[in-house]
Amino acid sequence: MTLPELVRIFDTDEKCREILTKLRWPLGVECPRCKSHSNTYIQARKVFQCGECEYQYSVLVGTIFNDSHLPLDKWFYAVLLLVESRKGISANQMKRILGISYKTAWYLCHRIRAAMKEIEQPMLDGTVEMDETYVGGRKRGAGIRGRGAEKEIVIGLRQRNGDLRFFHARDAKSGTLAQYIRENVSEDVEVMVTDEFMAYPDAMRRTGMSTKHKMIRHKGGVYVDGNIHTNTVESAFSLLKRGIMGTWHKISAKHLPAYLDEMTFRFNRRKNPDLFTDTLRHMITAPVLTFEKLTMNPPATRDSEIAVPF
Ligand SMILES: [Zn+2]
Repeated sequence: MTLPELVRIFDTDEKCREILTKLRWPLGVECPRCKSHSNTYIQARKVFQCGECEYQYSVLVGTIFNDSHLPLDKWFYAVLLLVESRKGISANQMKRILGISYKTAWYLCHRIRAAMKEIEQPMLDGTVEMDETYVGGRKRGAGIRGRGAEKEIVIGLRQRNGDLRFFHARDAKSGTLAQYIRENVSEDVEVMVTDEFMAYPDAMRRTGMSTKHKMIRHKGGVYVDGNIHTNTVESAFSLLKRGIMGTWHKISAKHLPAYLDEMTFRFNRRKNPDLFTDTLRHMITAPVLTFEKLTMNPPATRDSEIAVPF
């Protein structure tokens, strides 16, 4: 999907609703109250009336589009901008491009990110690289960069030639690392590659993966030992950091998980030609609670967010 195509295909509110209807109810329009498929469409009010319980509902009811005063075509432009920008797009850019207020742009970005949260993800398999990195939170002038500094921890897991997972972790202790392995890596994984960080051997013992564990020794200057490297998860980390530095500028610890979801959602679908439609499908079917929780405590001003120095 390109911008000119988008403008041409979705030039009316009605056409936007048509595709959302197909994506929400691929097997036919269904009453959210009684699940009946019998209905009549009331054109003037853009609602379906249930043939059984007479409930009137629009395609947007109970979704993250509900209660939005923003025209649907602007929502669609915003989705395209978010899915097509490899490093993400800031609320300020969105504001300028769509000609909307900063607050509206901020909510819009966050609503779309909420829909990008993956619900069911397959377990990683084959060769899996695991690494951790540190973003933001460092106090001005305090300490050296890297492990031990006051930063937010991001755990990365990446299947070689496969999917990526990022997690905002509370610490990088072996028990925590083991939990992410259990929840995301298949027991049948062939090789787990990490660097020499001391928590990994114990994490592998806890998950029964010690015999599959290969470590690359960065300290000895050995970065790539044949197939034993963590280069692919590290390149994903550098994309994340370029995104935070170049696009988002400032993010708060609270919203870090949402940015990580956005990043991995886009990354794991980089070869998907239907990324735009796929994202719309997530948006029209994602639980609305995800969004309500997210925006319960919006930031008072931009300045209240934490700067992320790199
Ligand atoms: Zn009904």
